[in-house]
Amino acid sequence: MTNEEKKTLEKRLSSLDSNERNRLYKRAAQMRKLAQAKTNTRPRHAQLELEDDDRIDFRKPRPALLEWVLKVLSQDDAPSVGTIETALRVGTVVAIGPRSAEVVLDGKTLTCLLSKELAERQQSEIAVGDEVEVTMRGAETALIATVRPRRTKLSRPDPGNANQERVIVANVDVVAVVVSVVSPPLHPRLIDRYLIAIRRGGAEPVICVNKTDLLDEGALVEELKQLAPYERLGVPIVRCSASARNGLDELRIALEGKLAAFVGHSGVGKSSLLNAMKPELGLAVGTVSEGYGRGTHTTTRSTLLDLGGGTRIIDTPGIRSFGLWQLTAEELPWYFPEFAAVTGCKFRDCSHTHEPGCAVKEAVESGEVSRDRYETYIRILESL
Ligand code: GDP
Ligand code: ZN
Repeated sequence: MTNEEKKTLEKRLSSLDSNERNRLYKRAAQMRKLAQAKTNTRPRHAQLELEDDDRIDFRKPRPALLEWVLKVLSQDDAPSVGTIETALRVGTVVAIGPRSAEVVLDGKTLTCLLSKELAERQQSEIAVGDEVEVTMRGAETALIATVRPRRTKLSRPDPGNANQERVIVANVDVVAVVVSVVSPPLHPRLIDRYLIAIRRGGAEPVICVNKTDLLDEGALVEELKQLAPYERLGVPIVRCSASARNGLDELRIALEGKLAAFVGHSGVGKSSLLNAMKPELGLAVGTVSEGYGRGTHTTTRSTLLDLGGGTRIIDTPGIRSFGLWQLTAEELPWYFPEFAAVTGCKFRDCSHTHEPGCAVKEAVESGEVSRDRYETYIRILESL
């Protein structure tokens, strides 16, 4: 291969999208492995190393593999040669539109185009909080080449299609479930669902009770008794008021240095809390429609906001109901650790529903296990 040919091939290689590129590298790795296996006289452990070629970093191939990649490419029909792309850089997705995403790269926000595949599978394949590898096509156009594997995620099924996963946020350390008192009133049932989804996705939960200014201390204590089961489970609970600027330091401390998400019904005050913590954000705040105690939909898409000091928070649109993505009946009790703490069900695989000698049902009767939590369990089980 002449240098000139090599250059043309390298140019063509850089114009491929991530899927085409991955396929190409896989084929090259296979071809190299085959060729090496034929001539291989090295001891067994060296062959084992070769097996690892399947897991090589395709973006930074060793030179020898690159040779094979170019060989494979030269045998293929030439795809159209695009403008030269420059090296991959890694950034964080801070917002997503229909065909593009906003990515923060080296402290600057860049609009990056999504590949066709990524745009089609946008709900599950890319989310705010994702780390992505970006290539530049020329000086102007940035493209998202790859979405890096996620550390954590918060998912739910698409409300219109239960078989479609919708990833709400990616890579968050903490998910703050924001609830309010009075307007809208406190409903722990949604918290139960969120806790399951948060634990399954690998993040830590925090419950944030906003609008505490709307009740006097006695009434507030009474209202917050509903949260006692979560306290017993060790979920941190922060009381605050965006209006009265109470509890904001506690909230800051709970989220300090972390990537967090605010989730919950619209109208509970997620945007107000963010504004209270950092007024420069100037987020639009909705008015609670009279009668329903529900907010109008002010936040329509998730946005990652930098609160300073290493704290980043993703504000998410309010949702009314929260489905559980591919949860099975067998798995469900794992997310009710207080059930596991009760021992003595007659049947080892007791579903704590119809079985005789169920220690969990007895614990509900005696008040040891929260009846509300048990009822949520039954409801979710019935819906699976
Ligand atoms: P979001 O939909 O969860 O982002 O809620 P918003 O921040 O848009 O707030 C919804 C409504 O609740 C607005 O009218 C806010 O002024 C009001 N609100 C927010 N926080 C508080 C609070 O701490 N106390 C009271 N009384 N009202 C609040
Ligand atoms: Zn049982």
